[in-house]
Amino acid sequence: MTKLLRCRDVGFECDAEVRGDSNEEILAQVVEHARDAHGVDEVPEAVVQRAIAAIREEQRPG
Ligand SMILES: [Zn+2]
Repeated sequence: MTKLLRCRDVGFECDAEVRGDSNEEILAQVVEHARDAHGVDEVPEAVVQRAIAAIREEQRPG
């Protein structure tokens, strides 16, 4: 099942969503997104932990 993380759930005012098959895959994309979209060169460990806690299984309608 696809996992989903909303940037907003990590604490940014942002509507971006990241999908992946594993937490590692999602975190890699979040780090990239944080750098490109939010100018965060190095994501603090606390934010990484918050991101992991905010990852959800994607619910598909139907
Ligand atoms: Zn964002």
